[in-house]
Amino acid sequence: MTSGITSILNKRDLEKSDILELLRCDDEDATLLCRTAASVRNKYVGNIIYLRGLIEFSNICGKNCLYCGIRRDNRQIERYTISNTEVIEAAMKAYRMNFGSIAIQSGENCSEEFTSNVEYLVRTITEMTNGKLGITLSLGEQDKDTYRRWYEAGAHRYLLRIESSSSDLYRRIHPDDDMHRYERRIECLRMLQETGYQTGTGVMIGLPSQTLSNLAEDILFMRDFDIDMCGMGPFIEHTDTPLGKNGTDNPFLRERFNLTLRMIAIIRLVMKDINIVASTAMSAIDKLGREMAIGSGANVVMPNLTPSRYRDGYRIYTGKPGYRDIEESNISGLRIELLSGAKIGMGSWGDTPHFAKRIAGKSIRKESRSVR
Ligand code: SAM
Ligand code: SF4
Repeated sequence: MTSGITSILNKRDLEKSDILELLRCDDEDATLLCRTAASVRNKYVGNIIYLRGLIEFSNICGKNCLYCGIRRDNRQIERYTISNTEVIEAAMKAYRMNFGSIAIQSGENCSEEFTSNVEYLVRTITEMTNGKLGITLSLGEQDKDTYRRWYEAGAHRYLLRIESSSSDLYRRIHPDDDMHRYERRIECLRMLQETGYQTGTGVMIGLPSQTLSNLAEDILFMRDFDIDMCGMGPFIEHTDTPLGKNGTDNPFLRERFNLTLRMIAIIRLVMKDINIVASTAMSAIDKLGREMAIGSGANVVMPNLTPSRYRDGYRIYTGKPGYRDIEESNISGLRIELLSGAKIGMGSWGDTPHFAKRIAGKSIRKESRSVR
């Protein structure tokens, strides 16, 4: 019996109507979709999962996103910033464990004190590891000079989710003020690409009033923006936020989980050679969530290296996992090799061919412009 989606899976380029059909397909077809995406990953970037040791550097945030548990107006949490010594210790732990790279994430802080501290940390970690430990940053919207300083200090990847590529929906999930403008988010993503970062973005899935059409357009947005990395995850309500006041309904969470697997698989079909994260939010809904994301084409996992005493303070959504410390002797909590058949790419930055091609493409375009 031929599956209803086979003809779409065999297409070279997917249109919005194809993406919509894949998002709507039944469970049997979804299994085929995810399997196909995993084999596309194997072919274009290898059956290898790369690790980014996650350090949740600070939960102090100047912003007030309506969905996020560490938003400025949430007075229920104690604010922290991890000391430089502890950040460097966590980075060295990743280095000793041969993770290949780390990701430093934080609430948004645009002060000069924060900027120069991050610059110091990135430079120190780069020097201490002879540039062998890759550094991804996820520190929100900043000005161009700040992005440049961190890049020159040694960071080479940056994750800034667009959250939703629909400017309308973006407006509905953020306060209506100059700190939370869709246009600014786009401008920051452009600046990151121009600075030279491997640039990642992504969306939340299951936001209030989000439609399948929005999600299909998110995929097209990421394709057209020519991103190098994608991090998508289900939206999970946090009870101390405006969008989470009523808590979460479990059947909805499962639906968002299944939809996220499809989104991961579809972005893999559309952008074959990028890095795609299996987000922690997936394992908040299903213990095997990250492994299932890998089974749908993802190839990056971010084990949490934040010292345990800070983790309670970084609950961006209710039920966020991650109390268990990662031991140096084993990468506990990661059953990837066992469950997905993929290998872990130890000791490697884990860059994808996509970035190299994007940069080469730019210089070719530049050259051909100068010839004319
Ligand atoms: N402040 C930086 C930023 O916003 O880019 C980095 C930290 S922020 C906590 C990282 C990501 O967490 C956001 O891009 C958002 O997609 C995700 N997030 C926040 N609240 C969430 C929620 N309730 N459910 C799922 N993901 C959430
Ligand atoms: Fe701050 Fe990022 Fe949360 Fe928005 S999503 S409130 S910027 S930490």
